[in-house]
Amino acid sequence: MIEPIKILGVPVHPMTMVEAVDSLEQRMLAGEQTFVVTANAEIIMMCQEDASYDDIISHEAELVLPDGAGAVWAGRHLGYNVPERVAGFDLYNQLLALSAKKGYKSYFFGGSPGVAEAAKVKSEELYPGVQIVGCHNGYFTDADVPGIIEEINNSGAEMLFVALGAPKQEKWILAHRAELKPRILMGIGGSFDVLAGKMERAPKWMQDASLEWAFRLYKQPSRFMRMMALPKFALKVMFSDKK
Ligand code: UDP
Repeated sequence: MIEPIKILGVPVHPMTMVEAVDSLEQRMLAGEQTFVVTANAEIIMMCQEDASYDDIISHEAELVLPDGAGAVWAGRHLGYNVPERVAGFDLYNQLLALSAKKGYKSYFFGGSPGVAEAAKVKSEELYPGVQIVGCHNGYFTDADVPGIIEEINNSGAEMLFVALGAPKQEKWILAHRAELKPRILMGIGGSFDVLAGKMERAPKWMQDASLEWAFRLYKQPSRFMRMMALPKFALKVMFSDKK
């Protein structure tokens, strides 16, 4: 796999979307399990403050991709060649499209009750032939976990999408990856909500103008405190040493 670059100490693989999908498929076909993280500025900032989360992203995930305008800007500002943004929602959709073409099976885990099922219906509409072989909502107790893992493993899914929000989803994946049969394990935050139409994604022009953060803040003002990480991220990058 391509050498990672470092953004505030966090390794990020500067791949294109096509390269990322291809690498995930090849590793899956070779029987290798890949824990993939799409790291945006918020996640990189969480790593600065939470050593256990940093350890997961820096040492446990095999593939960490630059999600969001902030991560791409930071990589380039630090002197690296970062070809493009590989957003979690886009990678999730690309993997579904690939699955529909090749017959790979997926399991949707996370979100409020009914949302993963609604995302399944929508993905079957968007990617005819896609096989979503099971769904489970993201509100569970520790006692439920063995049953959830058994259901995922018995479903025959090759890809597991975990939508519990960061950092919960990555912590859950790390805690259970050894018991999980799917070969691709990916945290996807609120992607089921977006696919199911419960949450709007920023229009393309806002994404292209690096304004997705502003759209999210407008739609969910409660994210304000979380989003204070973004200017802190930019300042930290500006004051860090270049490559
Ligand atoms: N969620 C969940 N279980 C939890 C906490 C959150 O299933 O215990 C879901 C929530 O319903 C939402 C997603 O996780 O669908 C978090 O979305 P968000 O956009 O906040 O993701 P982030 O930006 O943190 O990756």
